[in-house]
Amino acid sequence: MLQGARHAHVQALNSAANELNIPLQIFELRKDNDLFEANPDAIILPGGESSTMRLIGNGTNSQLLPKLFELIREKTDLPVMGTCAGAILLSDPQDEGGKIVDAIVDRNAYGSQSESFQSTVDASLISRDFLGIFIRAPRFLSLGENSTAIVSHGEEIVGARTNNRIALTFHPELSNDNGFHKWLISKALEVRS
Ligand code: GLN
Repeated sequence: MLQGARHAHVQALNSAANELNIPLQIFELRKDNDLFEANPDAIILPGGESSTMRLIGNGTNSQLLPKLFELIREKTDLPVMGTCAGAILLSDPQDEGGKIVDAIVDRNAYGSQSESFQSTVDASLISRDFLGIFIRAPRFLSLGENSTAIVSHGEEIVGARTNNRIALTFHPELSNDNGFHKWLISKALEVRS
């Protein structure tokens, strides 16, 4: 909840949980203490502006980002979804701890806002085509050996996975298909049980 496209994720999560018939509690994380109180089964890092998220999340008032990265690294099978700016943070945490999703990412790599676009992508993770909404999106320059491709747009990889952490360069919460949110919830149940 530091900044960016948060509320659409809340809606997508609620509709996914409804369709799966699973009770869901959503915690809004702004500060390190929110994280300790929540002890979440899964985490979403939304899109927005990664530079702003770093400033707020590393600031003395929040300290959410360092604690979040610590928790994710500690719980190696925790389901995590980073979309757009969130994918940038996971691939390039800019701390001492190393990559959380093993990929090299380039910010704003398609150009400025006027280069934002929608296109069908092949979402092998959820076994179907998906409407990819790319908003000043980053691009993966390469995936590391701990990553697999989970979504592609033609020849290009637009989704990467390391353990149960997925990084998507587009905005799944803005599409009508809540498949990625269902995947996250289902994974959380699997890991918890
Ligand atoms: N351009 C943004 C960044 O660099 C990402 C855009 C988005 O999240 N829609 O953080």
